[in-house]
Amino acid sequence: MTDIKELQSIAREFIDKRDWRKFHTLKDLAMNSSIESNELMEIFLWHDENFENDLISHNDEKNLRKIKNEVSDILFSCLAIADHLNFDISEAYIHKMSELDKRYDVNTVRGKLKKIPSPDHEKD
Ligand SMILES: [Mg+2]
Repeated sequence: MTDIKELQSIAREFIDKRDWRKFHTLKDLAMNSSIESNELMEIFLWHDENFENDLISHNDEKNLRKIKNEVSDILFSCLAIADHLNFDISEAYIHKMSELDKRYDVNTVRGKLKKIPSPDHEKD
């Protein structure tokens, strides 16, 4: 098991070894996270539920590897943004999940698909 600080350190080392920090603006890192998310979505494009079932049962190792790679690409962008802004991504995640836990009250949403707008109307 690797903790998030170690993952962030691996991302930082990868960037610094290549002297890429000068190219990693926040804008580009944010755009990269979106692009990598789209690459993840592309894997699922034009497939029916059998595709998903094969992934869940690990009968499709090739596409499972592709998904692991894209999820890792997304995580890399997130870790790089946190590193760039020098914040603790663990604390940010716990804070966000706490907000979501309050917003999506279990008694209100359990078993239901229900979008509840953020109290401050931010797009999140
Ligand atoms: Mg990718």
